[in-house]
Amino acid sequence: MQGFLSCPFCAYEEGLSRNPRVCPRCEVPLRWQWEGRAFSPGELSGRGVWRYRPLLPAVEPVSLGEGGTPLLEAHPMDGIEAKILWKLEFLNPTGSFKDRGAAVMVAVLKALGAKRLADDSSGNAGAALSAYAARAGLSAKIFVPASASGPKLQQIAAYGAELVRVPGPRPAAAEAIRRACAEDPDLVYASHNLSPYFVAGLATLAFEIAEESGWKSPDHVVVPVGGGGLLLGLFYGFLLLAELGWVEKIPRIHAVQAEACAPVAQALKEGLSLPKEVELGETVAEGVRIPRPERGREILAAVRTSGGQGLSVSDEEILQARRELARDGLYVEPTGAVAPAALAKLWEMGAVRSGEVVVVPLTGFGLKTG
Ligand SMILES: *Cc1c(COP(=O)(O)O)cnc(C)c1O
Repeated sequence: MQGFLSCPFCAYEEGLSRNPRVCPRCEVPLRWQWEGRAFSPGELSGRGVWRYRPLLPAVEPVSLGEGGTPLLEAHPMDGIEAKILWKLEFLNPTGSFKDRGAAVMVAVLKALGAKRLADDSSGNAGAALSAYAARAGLSAKIFVPASASGPKLQQIAAYGAELVRVPGPRPAAAEAIRRACAEDPDLVYASHNLSPYFVAGLATLAFEIAEESGWKSPDHVVVPVGGGGLLLGLFYGFLLLAELGWVEKIPRIHAVQAEACAPVAQALKEGLSLPKEVELGETVAEGVRIPRPERGREILAAVRTSGGQGLSVSDEEILQARRELARDGLYVEPTGAVAPAALAKLWEMGAVRSGEVVVVPLTGFGLKTG
């Protein structure tokens, strides 16, 4: 095991532990930080997520073949004179980028002696955790709102996870899992929103993008934001590469949300340091329907440090982008079209300029929704 936990806002540090931890001073989730000797990219070997093992907390892989996804040049888009590259994250083993986080998190928790894992997600995070727990020989208990249904729930059940249906709105599932983990110390909260190891695994997306570009950062990365793990993984990934001297700069990271539920995008537009208080609005983008992201303060700081923008897109724009991608052979779930839907806006507002390179992860597979 490598590295340590640290507060994103103060100098607080501590050693690795199983359950998510918060800074006793700043009351924000701790993050995992790399610590090691300087080395060169020539020492990397293998493919996919575990190629970057020297930059990850876990040493012994748990793997289903995650990562190593194609970076595909987009066909020219109406009036946009930038080079757009799709990163095909929906080709991961369970159909979303969450596999990067789940693989690394499960490997760390297994190495720390965990046998039983729990998360609250009726979506892609639940599916990814269930698959990797199965692969590692650990059990998974997934807390979902009693009203949840659909292909993602079937996928979770198929991997053999135990489903715990919690009556009431979604926050009730989050409360139920906290209670269950507090009462049963052997049940580890393997949270896709709070575990520092999940974000550490997502950083491999930045490593791959940079390496495929000849150890160069793109000018921009455009990401959908729900809990913000994807955005933070990219940010810390590029930051680490810059610290190692493997890339010269970090890209501008733009955060895109659905208009109906845009706490982060609105806070960025209004210059707030905490997410805007919003209602849980209805949107086709179920994967980013999160009114109170627990790492909100950290997400806002990351976007601002990178020089990025906050944007929101309507359901109509999301579904239009989804159709256009499919007409180009790329079938994503609606949440996977949230970031592509913002490209025209970034171009029109002058945030993206002629000749610049823009990478957009396509986050989830089209067959994930009905
Ligand atoms: C989880 C998810 C997102 C949002 O990622 P966060 O890390 O929660 O911000 C976007 N798209 C898809 C398909 C997802 O499953």
